[in-house]
Amino acid sequence: MIGISGEILHNITLAADLIKKSQRTVTMTGAGISTPSGIPDFRSPNVGLWTRFEPMEVASLTAFRHNPEQFYQWLHPLAVQMYAAQPNPAHQALAKLQNAGYISVIITQNIDGLHTKAGSQDVLEVHGSLDTMTCTNCYHQYPAENYIEEYISHCATPFCQECGSILKPDVILYNEQLPVKTWVKAEAACKQCDLIMVVGTSLEVMPSAGLPIHALENGAHLIIINNTVTFLDVRAELMIHENVADILPRIADEVLNA
Ligand SMILES: [Zn+2]
Repeated sequence: MIGISGEILHNITLAADLIKKSQRTVTMTGAGISTPSGIPDFRSPNVGLWTRFEPMEVASLTAFRHNPEQFYQWLHPLAVQMYAAQPNPAHQALAKLQNAGYISVIITQNIDGLHTKAGSQDVLEVHGSLDTMTCTNCYHQYPAENYIEEYISHCATPFCQECGSILKPDVILYNEQLPVKTWVKAEAACKQCDLIMVVGTSLEVMPSAGLPIHALENGAHLIIINNTVTFLDVRAELMIHENVADILPRIADEVLNA
């Protein structure tokens, strides 16, 4: 909170004005909204999760099929952090805006479930979620909560209660197709909105990073709130390069209390 400049305060007011004027606002979030909750960006090379394993060798669909135990060992520290994590003020601000009718759809690249924990509805998780698991043989789906305690405490590999095959968490791995129904909804939401607010993503992971382009092509305004630059900054009406957990609550306050 310390050191927010007059220019940023001005941009916060402009962002709030755009949200109030818009008929359909879509918000798209990425890893940066969950780092204040203690969840590392697991695609980032600096967080240590990649130091023991090469990502394509453990976190791809091919690798999972070949060696699921190694995948579950790799995922373990990340899963421990995600299940313990709590929503931060940025998630809470978006939930407040959505529940007050100012955001129609939240699209997230995150698999941590923190938008839902914060009280948001109908979150489109384009990279899947850790909340459910599916049998690799009979496709029976299970709530992950049936398996979490055993996995967190003993790193136990989960097996299907119907057929005994290994379960795969419903998160999208490298070289795995995105969830079709969710993806179609996300594209449609972007095409129909008149404002898209991109939060906590550097827009580096395709094809999700291309979603705001659908909105721009249909004349929507673009707001980007992220601590680093993105390839769409040049097309944004407004950019705020700051910590999202500092900025979003201020925007929500201006929208809801003005
Ligand atoms: Zn099965």
